[in-house]
Amino acid sequence: LNGTYDPDNIFAKIVRGEIPSVKVFEDDEVLAFMDAFPQSKGHLLVISKTSRARNVLEAEPKTLGRLIGAVQKAARAVTQALKPDGVVVTQFNGAPAGQTVFHLHFHVIPRYEGEALGR
Ligand code: 5GP
Repeated sequence: LNGTYDPDNIFAKIVRGEIPSVKVFEDDEVLAFMDAFPQSKGHLLVISKTSRARNVLEAEPKTLGRLIGAVQKAARAVTQALKPDGVVVTQFNGAPAGQTVFHLHFHVIPRYEGEALGR
């Protein structure tokens, strides 16, 4: 996948506090925050605060391990809070795959019975 990491991408700015976000939890390595254009109620994003990986292909296995642990935490928290009927965990690599922000992230998207998929 072509290109290099842009340190001024939106999520890097969120990590640095240069643009606001609604944080769900955070530690030294990871940040979970609300998606600004949610596909459903409770749509969260989980990112690394330290990695400069744009996508899952570039990430260190250790980073992926930390991220997936945080994804599980986020999925459990949102399930407990909002009682969805299902939860999508997904991510995209490269613009043709649907990626729009080039800082590795996982989506956690609650799904509710009878609600259409998509935005
Ligand atoms: P991608 O398509 O790259 O996997 O997803 C990027 C996600 O970032 C989209 O779901 C989009 O709604 C979200 N997003 C874009 N800009 C912002 C922003 O400024 N703040 C937050 N919280 N989410 C954003």
